Amino acid sequence: MLFILKSNSDPSQLVEKIVARSASYRVVDLYGRRIVVAWPDKLVEDIVDDSVEVRVKSSRPYQLASSEWKRDKTIVDVDGVEIGGRSVVVAAGPCAIEDEELAIEIAKAVKRAGAKMFRGGAYKPRTSPYSFQGLGEKGLEILKRVYEETGLPIVTEVMDTRDVEKVARYAHMLQIGARNSQNFHLLKEVGKSRKPALLKRGMAMTVEEWLLAAEYMLLEGNGNVVLCERGIRSFEKSTRFTLDIASAVYTKTVTHLPIAVDPSHPAGRRDLVEPLALAAVAAGADMLIIEVHLSPEKALSDNEQQLTIDMFEKLMTRLKAVAEAVGRSI
Ligand code: PEP
Ligand code: MN
Repeated sequence: MLFILKSNSDPSQLVEKIVARSASYRVVDLYGRRIVVAWPDKLVEDIVDDSVEVRVKSSRPYQLASSEWKRDKTIVDVDGVEIGGRSVVVAAGPCAIEDEELAIEIAKAVKRAGAKMFRGGAYKPRTSPYSFQGLGEKGLEILKRVYEETGLPIVTEVMDTRDVEKVARYAHMLQIGARNSQNFHLLKEVGKSRKPALLKRGMAMTVEEWLLAAEYMLLEGNGNVVLCERGIRSFEKSTRFTLDIASAVYTKTVTHLPIAVDPSHPAGRRDLVEPLALAAVAAGADMLIIEVHLSPEKALSDNEQQLTIDMFEKLMTRLKAVAEAVGRSI
């Protein structure tokens, strides 16, 4: 149950009533409102208190992420770039940060083509321990240089609770990868950091589980969460993962949070990235993250799916046309 308080009202009486019923609660400040979240519903649903402006009994388990209490769409501001507004935000860059000069060159090229953010991994979640693991802190230093050179806000992955503070010092948005999307300790730490977060959908995660993962961050008072569909595991083997556009569309109907789509990882092949990206924007994605490299065939990770600069430029031209056709811009 959400008790949304009148502005400047004191929640202490309400909290006493909740505690008297042996229910659990959290006081959260989100989107300019103070909310007392109390559960289970059955213990608290008859509570009346002067401090409450409106109470919302959610029909969904993800109460704060649900659109039932917040009808307006949330806009996540990442260093001045707004995700969830009329404009579709494209974040582009290499899978992994490999080298400073290379990263800056890619960033300048994607910026010229219309990307509004730079993405690149310093900490890489690799399936094999023998694969390139990323440059770690050195990669973060390079990302800082990219920002200084281009002004593009940085989104990069954080894999470990011990690194959240450090990565947050360099990045404008923290990515939680598919493999960590139910690492509840990490979700709570990123929630506490209040940094904008890009939450990938785990490859075996239902939409409800994905939204409950977001709920962990919202419950820590971090409302700056963007959900990112990146393909799920299915019986289908012709693509690397099955891009679940249907779920992205559905998710937009049940949450106020913006939705991103990553067409690169489900494609697994660069020739499939463009049509999937176009489909995602046509279906209402608020953000795309796309892997781009100067010489993709030499990339140290995901070399089959990264686009060349040339391919990215062509993609951006087509994306603009699709965005316009659905009342958006890029
Ligand atoms: C990535 O974005 O580089 C990445 C590793 O993605 P995912 O977590 O979706 O596999
Ligand atoms: Mn990758």
